[in-house]
Parts: sequence; structure tokens; C-alpha cells
Amino acid sequence: GRRPLVAGNWKMNGTRASLATVEGIRDGLSPALLEKIDVLICPPATLISSCVAATYGSPIAIGGQNLHARPSGAFTGSISAEMLADLGAKYVIVGHSERRAYHHETDDGVHAKALGARRAGLCGIICVGETMEEREQGRALSIVRAQLAIGIPKGATAQDTVIAYEPVWAIGSGRTPTPAEIAEVHASLREMLDKLVGEEAAKIRILYGGSVKPGNARELMAVENVDGALVGGASLVAEDFLGICNAYA
Ligand code: 13P
Repeated sequence: GRRPLVAGNWKMNGTRASLATVEGIRDGLSPALLEKIDVLICPPATLISSCVAATYGSPIAIGGQNLHARPSGAFTGSISAEMLADLGAKYVIVGHSERRAYHHETDDGVHAKALGARRAGLCGIICVGETMEEREQGRALSIVRAQLAIGIPKGATAQDTVIAYEPVWAIGSGRTPTPAEIAEVHASLREMLDKLVGEEAAKIRILYGGSVKPGNARELMAVENVDGALVGGASLVAEDFLGICNAYA
């Protein structure tokens, strides 16, 4: 089976004082749980280096939230996959809905960034998800399948690629799809993955994200084809994030 991944996305939250949160997560994860799951924190870029130091020698991985597709150059303010890797990051989130909505990222742009992540040896977490309007129009599956098909690099492997299904309307809203709705999307994404990468598809993890909390994690993580969580708000509080990880205990 696929090894679950519980990932925290801090978004634009956190200063050096937040290292206490990473330490709390590090110290709160039991060795028995860490035998079963992978744990990842994606802090703002300003904290990657110190989070890598704080988790040195622990199995917790640190990742970026975004990258520029190119390795270097005249792109003021941008950060490349190589730079993230240089700091000790192992993963990077690609095409989060907030990047798509506020920074005009397209599926082609997501594809270029996913290639950049792979080039630098990072695992790209490619995010897909429909808006409520798209869901109401019955287009949720066609939207996420297209986002996946265009975004994912040819020859993607479980080493370099994770998929995250994050319905836009579930992010930060306290609302989640029903387990049946999540199962439908994840099954469809898995079938699409199969078409795109063949045999390797069975090894690639598909996370669910959007209002995952300690109180619903067990139910959501038990849904078929859900291989972990991408957690926003609840990853900012060590006890909450640990509560979600413990859904796998
Ligand atoms: P919330 O967990 O705050 O809903 O955010 C989900 C998310 O966007 C993670 O990338």
C-alpha cells in the first residue's frame, strides 16, 4: 500500500517564534506513528532553513510552498527549486489554489513548476480542485482531471510527485465534501493517473486538503484512495496537527 503523508501548509503565517510549533510537532510524534506515516511541514520560505535545522535528525521533512520554474536568473523576488533543495527542502507545493487565484497560475505554469521541482530532486505536490460554482455545474471531475493531466510531468513517479485534491470551497471554510464525494474525486484522479503514468500510478499518493481538523481527520483519512492530508490552518497549532497525524495511530 501507499505510505500516508500528512503535510502542513503554513501559507503566509509564521515568524521565528513559530519554530516552537515545529519543535512541538517534532517532539509530539511517536516513533511508532513515524514508522507508519511521512510528515511534512511547509513553512514560509523565510523559515525553511531554521525549520530544517529544528528537525535535523528527525524524519519530519520540510518543504516550500511555491517555486519559480527556472533554476536561476533575472526573476526578482522568486525562488527556484534548486534554492529550496539547497536549504534542505524535500518537497514543494505546486499550483495551490491560492497561487492559481491570486497569482494567475495556469495549468501550463503548474506543469513547468512541477518539472522544475523534479529537476532539482524535490517532490512536487501538485494541487487540483474545483470551485463551488464548478461543482454545482457538475464539472468537478472534468476540472480536476484536466488540472492533473496538464499539470503532471510525463513519466512522473511516486518519488517526484504527490497529488493533492483541495476543493477550493473547502479551504479555510470549515466545510468539507462528504466522504462519498471525496471518494468519487479520488477514484477519478487515480483512474486518470493510471492513463497518464501507467503502472507507477498505483504508487503515487493522492492527499485530501480543505478544512482537515483533528475532529474529522479519522473519517476523511479513512476514505478510499485518500493517502494523507494537506493541512492549512490546523497545521499552525502543534496539538491540532498532531491530532490529525494521530488519525493514523
Ligand atoms: P485549511 O486546512 O485551512 O482549510 O487549508 C487547506 C489548504 O489550503 C492546504 O493547502
